[in-house]
Amino acid sequence: MRKHSRTTSVSVFRNEVSGAMDGTTAAYCLDRLARGDSWSDRQVFSFMEGAVNRSIDQSQVAAFLMAVACRGLSRERLYDLTMSYVNSGTVLRRDEHGPVADKHSTGGVGDKLTFLVCPLVAAAGGRVRKMSGASLRHCSGTIDKLSALSDFRHETDIDGFLAEVERFGFSIVPQSAALCPADALTYGIRNRCGSTGSAELIAASIMSKKIATGASGLVLDIKMGAGGLFESDARATMVARVMLEIARASGIRARAFLTDMSRPLGRAIGGASEVAEALDTLGGGGDYDTRALALDVAASMLVSSGHSTDEAVARQRLESVLDSGAARQRFCRWLASRGADAERVAADFGAARGVPIRSARSGYVESIAPAPLGRLARDLGAPGRITGNIVLAKTVGERVMAGETLARVDDGTHAARCVTEEHLEAVRRCFRIVEQKSDCPPRVLGVLDQTDDSLATAVGAAS
Ligand code: URA
Repeated sequence: MRKHSRTTSVSVFRNEVSGAMDGTTAAYCLDRLARGDSWSDRQVFSFMEGAVNRSIDQSQVAAFLMAVACRGLSRERLYDLTMSYVNSGTVLRRDEHGPVADKHSTGGVGDKLTFLVCPLVAAAGGRVRKMSGASLRHCSGTIDKLSALSDFRHETDIDGFLAEVERFGFSIVPQSAALCPADALTYGIRNRCGSTGSAELIAASIMSKKIATGASGLVLDIKMGAGGLFESDARATMVARVMLEIARASGIRARAFLTDMSRPLGRAIGGASEVAEALDTLGGGGDYDTRALALDVAASMLVSSGHSTDEAVARQRLESVLDSGAARQRFCRWLASRGADAERVAADFGAARGVPIRSARSGYVESIAPAPLGRLARDLGAPGRITGNIVLAKTVGERVMAGETLARVDDGTHAARCVTEEHLEAVRRCFRIVEQKSDCPPRVLGVLDQTDDSLATAVGAAS
């Protein structure tokens, strides 16, 4: 594995590695895995090293990931897998320039929280080193949302990343050859081999990024419901506990919010429109529940990282930087430093635009199916565009009259040339409209802290 120029003291799971596995040995180990044998810590490290060095080919990596997705992984091997991702690149020292706050979501539809909490925490005096991923299945990833902005440049250099955190109080970067390359590699393969929903692979992917970037305090946003990646809420809760445990073992103070993803978060789904909605929310607009969740998560980030000792004080400070526009300004300056014009994004993707989809009947919106909407937003993208955009004019619990606009749809350009009648009908079918208004679940369904006694649940059965 690479030399770590900035190695931290958190390598508690680090094992001595005997070197990268080659393709022949990988084939033998995979054969044993298929027969029900388990791997040792050395084999996991050596396999991932071979994967990153390309001495093992991608079909072998896919086979391993599918085996994990189908059979699960013991707690010990999950730690090993996580640390093999961490140690595949540079590991940033924790607390070198003061405490570092971080958050990560397990993936949801319309989830633009990163664009809210990073500038909020930074404007309130914290610092955030955020490493994000691209889209997984129907969940559009932070990196793809940023890629949807004209002229936006990603930063993949570690010094550039750290310099941005000093300058703006936060930075958002993708996995790269420098940081968590094993996560970058497996992330892409998981998306192509049907293993995105594996609880163990999600835990290793998320926690490796947090450990590698030297987080001191972490808030996990565990998405529950059809718009997330987990097959059940019980599985989502279990993985939350395991991630909290990995965080504790690596010296990160963490908390997990269990949040409702039976409906999209906010109104915008897709690339640029989600950034535009974040700008609107930071400017005092947006939906109440998105704003409230952002403030809750940001306050927890400040407390868990040690930037603040009192959650109520942290929240007050966050409300003031939100209301004054200081957080929005910071986000705009950061976007500008990466080549994107925030005001243009807000003007182009924030206002009512795109093809309207009208309601066939009057009533109340009882539900909006998030996963099909997430897939449609992606599929609507014009050639060369990562996603299109779907912006909800009506959301769950709201009254709608026959003929009123339910949503607007575009293809990720200024136009909607690639939007077809089939797309529009498919979006319309995601809305369930009923006569009686029903209660909408709260956005925050629960909170798990590291101090919970129940942290001892194993993730999967086999190793
Ligand atoms: N976010 C990640 O970084 N990885 C996952 O597997 C899911 C969400």
